[in-house]
Amino acid sequence: MLKRREVLLAGLATAGCTREAAALQGGWVGTHPERGHRLRAALPAASGPLKQAGVLIVGSGIAGLACARALVARGMSDVALLDLEDQAGGNSRGHRVAGAPCPLGAHYLPVPGAQAHEVLALLHDLGLARSRLGRTEWDERHLCHSPQERLFFDGSWHDGLLPPADGEAGLAQYRRFGALVSEVQRTLGFAMPTRRAPWTPAHERLDAQTFAAWLDGHGLTDTRLRWYLDYCCRDDFGADAATVSAWAGLHYFASRHGFHAPGDETAEREPVLTWPEGNGWLSAHLAEPLRDRLHLGRTVLRVTEGRHGVEALAWNEATQAPERWAARAVVMATPLFVSARLLATPPDALRALRQPHAPWLTANVLLRDPLLLRPGAPPSWDNVRYGSVALGYVDARHQTLDPSPQAPLLTAYLALPQAQRAALLHEPWQHWARLVLDDLAGTHPDLPGKVERIELCRFGHAMSIPVPGLRGSAALAALNDTRGRVVFAHSDLAGYSVFEEAYTAGALAAGRLSL
Ligand SMILES: Cc1cc2nc3c(=O)[nH]c(=O)nc-3n(C[C@H](O)[C@H](O)[C@H](O)COP(=O)(O)OP(=O)(O)OC[C@H]3O[C@@H](n4cnc5c(N)ncnc54)[C@H](O)[C@@H]3O)c2cc1C
Repeated sequence: MLKRREVLLAGLATAGCTREAAALQGGWVGTHPERGHRLRAALPAASGPLKQAGVLIVGSGIAGLACARALVARGMSDVALLDLEDQAGGNSRGHRVAGAPCPLGAHYLPVPGAQAHEVLALLHDLGLARSRLGRTEWDERHLCHSPQERLFFDGSWHDGLLPPADGEAGLAQYRRFGALVSEVQRTLGFAMPTRRAPWTPAHERLDAQTFAAWLDGHGLTDTRLRWYLDYCCRDDFGADAATVSAWAGLHYFASRHGFHAPGDETAEREPVLTWPEGNGWLSAHLAEPLRDRLHLGRTVLRVTEGRHGVEALAWNEATQAPERWAARAVVMATPLFVSARLLATPPDALRALRQPHAPWLTANVLLRDPLLLRPGAPPSWDNVRYGSVALGYVDARHQTLDPSPQAPLLTAYLALPQAQRAALLHEPWQHWARLVLDDLAGTHPDLPGKVERIELCRFGHAMSIPVPGLRGSAALAALNDTRGRVVFAHSDLAGYSVFEEAYTAGALAAGRLSL
């Protein structure tokens, strides 16, 4: 049976396809699914000279870049990173439309907590943070400027993303959920990165059930609260509360600043770091010092561990020829299901792991003219519509310090059900463009008539969905602890995907290598 979200998506797509509209300018950008799909074909004959490296890192997403940075910091200069795309950064790359910067994927990093040592050290090194009198001060230029977020609800915009409570009964449910989050925060412990939190039988029990079942069990059935929590799960995990575990749903709130019901005196809006190009700012700053070690447009097809080192077979996308690499050790900074295909002899844990991934779509929409204002809260960085199956849009111009008038550039986000992965690959970009524009028209009816250009990026296997049983699985624990000549480094090791997990996984992998 189709889930509600799939039915709504199918309805949106049909409406979009039948609507008369001027021909759209735009297309797919950013990812090359055909390169990844080379792994399904027979291996090409390996010939030619062996390229040498001390450590080979497969994948130059945040985890791969963090690992290279850590190895270079330890004095290991002979590092080579291979990536199938033409730009480093993976899901955290930036893009440009008509010369203007915008995110391709990840767009923000909440100010990290004290347990994220590695990420905090990086942010200090990049000049984003500094210590003064025992406190961390942030460079205001890179903190999200005000107004930060708003929700379109019942015909007008409201400050923040939490829908207005539905009377006293709705407010009571908001408060009850907030109290439960505080309780698990206090009694169980949650942290980001998640490896810094305890893992107890109580965590295990939360991991064994869906978040929706846990909410039902606590009588938290208020429609607005449940929409909001569903939205949060789709935004962070790419899947709804009925799909992710209760551990994941609570971790979202309890590992950071909790959940604040309206009127909560302790409420503070979580400060976030963001840039016009999203987390592309961070990946570009990580990649720049490594530029001589980056070998882009190299699709790795096979990694074989030998008695004295490892060998990798890659496909050079520029020369359309195979390339052989030899190294003393390899870091697999690719999604774990990709690593399972690449390794000639994958460890048992990798074979045993069952880890679903959510497909995502982003769309950068350049407009000819500003949008008409609707009643309520003013245009903000993050703009979401209550009841939408999409995730709203961020304003890529929001952080710009250039005062000259500029055409609006919006980045829209959509986490898709897994059943839509094939359609994401096969349907033309215009199909998805219409779907995105129809959704945005729900808040801005004048938007479709103002589109100058729309550039879409598809991520077939964007992020790990923390389904029940995944975070506490023995397979994931074993892969986190693998040592030797082949180690793993990817946000998949946390069971879900955010910058802090990717960066920490990469930085720690450097210390588990046997060289
Ligand atoms: C649309 C979207 C929005 C997001 N928004 C946020 C956000 O706002 N904040 C946040 O913290 N997180 C966000 N995330 C999560 C994001 O995934 C992480 O922040 C982080 O970028 C993950 O990094 P990673 O290195 O673990 O993985 P990846 O980014 O998956 O990196 C893996 C790398 O391996 C490469 N690769 C794969 N196969 C091969 C092969 N065979 N040969 C060579 N190279 C290969 C890929 O090209 C890629 O560069 C978002 C993700 C998506 C998709």
